[in-house]
Amino acid sequence: MADILFSNVRILDGSGEQPYEGAVLIQGNRIKRVERDSETTGDGSMAVIDGAGATLMPGMVEAHTHLSWNDQPTLEAIALLPPEEHTLFTAQMAKRYIDMGFTSCVGAAAAKPRLDVVIRNAINSGQIPGPRYLANGQEIATRGGLGDTSPPHLEFPELSFGYVVSGPEEIRAAVRRFIKYGVDLIKLNLSGEEIAGVAAEETPMTDEEVAVAVEEAKRRGKRVCAHARSSESVRMCIRHGIEIIYHASYADEQTLDMLAAAKDKHFVAPGLAWLVRTSEDAAGFGISPDSPLGLQYARERDIAIETMAKMHRRGIRVLPGGDYGFAWIPHGQNARDLEYFVNLVGMSPMEAVLSATKLGGAIMGRPEELGQIREGYLADIILVDGDPLADIRILQDRERILAVMKDGTFHRAPDVAADERSLRWAV
Ligand SMILES: [Zn+2]
Repeated sequence: MADILFSNVRILDGSGEQPYEGAVLIQGNRIKRVERDSETTGDGSMAVIDGAGATLMPGMVEAHTHLSWNDQPTLEAIALLPPEEHTLFTAQMAKRYIDMGFTSCVGAAAAKPRLDVVIRNAINSGQIPGPRYLANGQEIATRGGLGDTSPPHLEFPELSFGYVVSGPEEIRAAVRRFIKYGVDLIKLNLSGEEIAGVAAEETPMTDEEVAVAVEEAKRRGKRVCAHARSSESVRMCIRHGIEIIYHASYADEQTLDMLAAAKDKHFVAPGLAWLVRTSEDAAGFGISPDSPLGLQYARERDIAIETMAKMHRRGIRVLPGGDYGFAWIPHGQNARDLEYFVNLVGMSPMEAVLSATKLGGAIMGRPEELGQIREGYLADIILVDGDPLADIRILQDRERILAVMKDGTFHRAPDVAADERSLRWAV
């Protein structure tokens, strides 16, 4: 395969440095050279893409992805899609994420035990397009907690959204089962969730259960993530070394101090879009803003925004993404989280970009080779029409994302017909 040269681009490299003009050479699946102020137009041995001043930046990373949530209004409806249709849907969503410039995603639980694993394997073997993907199992739920959606008179595992356990031995068995299936991550539902009828500030899973689950996962080299909205559940994550903390809305001051003291060991992905949209945009699906549920989500939204601003000020790593895949928060709009980070949490546009790139490489477990445009790094790159630092919202627009490259190969090459942008695709 010929080398690929992006010339005449504005490089937003994901290191934190301000963008600069230059050229980037891709050789195989790696970034071979980053040239500043270069006006090189390449030579005959390489494919040259004249970026016409477009922004070249690292592919974005989604920190809390559920590829198999099928844009339905309830957990029950997601769980009840038959496996055949569900597999096809999940494959289509893998394509949608990379189409939208997300070249890596952290799986935050699948709706069926093996869905994530099968999709990850199909992506990696080239059968279907998709991002780099860390596969998860089903979310592990306590009986009666968030994720236990089977009706009381029909307690069949197949009917439930989460994988239901009760007690240390059952949770041990669940973790071992998912590891057998080939997951990269284990997901534990520590706290409640209002839409599931379990208060977000409740913590149904016990310390004993969490300890066993984490011990089993770590014994086999697997990472652990947790649904943790209550302050107590965030403390559990810190106590047990659960690396990836989802939500963390109600973390109180003392918990924030504990987290700040261990900030290099944890990532937080709040999933703000879920709170914003559920409290504001779900009326068409039975959750009007002035309903009891709408008001609960509005309260949590406001508290979570405050909590994330505090975390950000303390240098805790806050990342975008989370819980897209419901009717009122469909897959593909994930870059909205960056807009929320800027407008609600108080990040600068640069900090928001870094949360999706540099920190993204870190949460993927590959900070030394993923998430930046830097010599030797993996060539996961997007070409963007415009300046995301001037308007962070352009990252939500598929039309503005002119090209997507993963591992040195174009998922979407720049459109030759896009002459109005004076892009040239010369081979
Ligand atoms: Zn989630």
